[in-house]
Parts: sequence; C-alpha cells; structure tokens
Amino acid sequence: MSRLDSHIRRLEAQRACLDTAIALIGGAVGPVLELGLGNGRTYDHLRQNMPGRAIFVFERILAAHPTSIPDPPFLILGDFRETLPGALQRLGAPAVLAHADFGSGNAAATAAVAEWLGLSLPMLLAPGAVVACDQTLVIPGAAALSLPAGVAEGRYHLWQMPG
Ligand code: SAM
Repeated sequence: MSRLDSHIRRLEAQRACLDTAIALIGGAVGPVLELGLGNGRTYDHLRQNMPGRAIFVFERILAAHPTSIPDPPFLILGDFRETLPGALQRLGAPAVLAHADFGSGNAAATAAVAEWLGLSLPMLLAPGAVVACDQTLVIPGAAALSLPAGVAEGRYHLWQMPG
C-alpha cells in the first residue's frame, strides 16, 4: 500500500468513527471536546454535523485554517496535561463526546500523552460519553466499541463510558 493509500484510509477511518460517535450520542445533552485542532478539518466536520453543539477545542499551538478556528470562548490553548485538569468548570457540564487526534512523528511523546489522557479523560466525561481517538488509550471503566464497517482494527479507536 502506498503512503497515499494509507493516508486516505486513515482519513476514511477517522470520518467513519466520528460519524459513528455522533450517531451514538444522538441528542444527549452536553458539550463535545476536540483534542488537537491541527488544521481544523475534524473540528469542521464535528461542527457541521452537530449544529448548535458547544465544541471546546484544546490545542498547544494554533495553526488551523482561518475558516476552522473556534470562537475564543471555545478555544483553550496549551498542553492538554495543563489545560484539561481544570476544564470542567469552563465546559459547564461533562462532555458527551471527546475526539482526540494528537499523534505525531515523535512516538515516545505521543505515547506519554496517550497514557496520561486515558487516565485523565474520564473526569470530564458524562455517563455514556463516547471517545474517538487516533491512539490506543487505556480509559478506566470504558468499553471498546466495534469499529464501523470497513475500518481496519487499530486504524482508529472508539470507546464508550458506562451509562
Ligand atoms: N484532527 C486535526 C485535523 O483534522 O486537522 C489534526 C490534528 S493534528 C494530527 C494533532 C494536533 O494535536 C497538533 O496540532 C498538535 O499541536 C496537537 N497536540 C499534540 N499533542 C498535544 C498536547 N499534549 N497538548 C495540546 N495539543 C497537542
């Protein structure tokens, strides 16, 4: 498989998992977390498919496309490990969906964030909340969900907190 093929499959898997997560939460009340804005493509997908939903975005360095930058109240700049622990008050309610896409070429740094995030995310999540992530997380209490049809095991990840 070429690198182009691999990239396309990753994006297809990401979109399929986001669409599954959006369908799973349905009309559940609560905000959404986008961890890693990057270019803002997945943020844009989330906001287009969940109109009216509060989406709080966490990002270390703002470098998104100008059309995909959240309004200031919904953009929290800094390292997740510093910004997430005190975020519940700002969110106003536990999140019903969290999407995290933070993998980089630095495998050790990515693994360190993944280990921290898996343990720390539950304090921001509502019962039944869905988590989609590009990395394998160990989230205490969460159940791994089946991936959408066509998404290869390990290409993307979905979990759900107990209801
Ligand atoms: N999903 C995005 C999109 O569709 O454009 C791409 C996200 S990009 C692959 C990963 C982003 O995560 C980068 O912008 C990076 O700065 C951010 N990131 C990685 N580790 C982080 C951390 N510990 N704290 C905050 N942001 C982080």
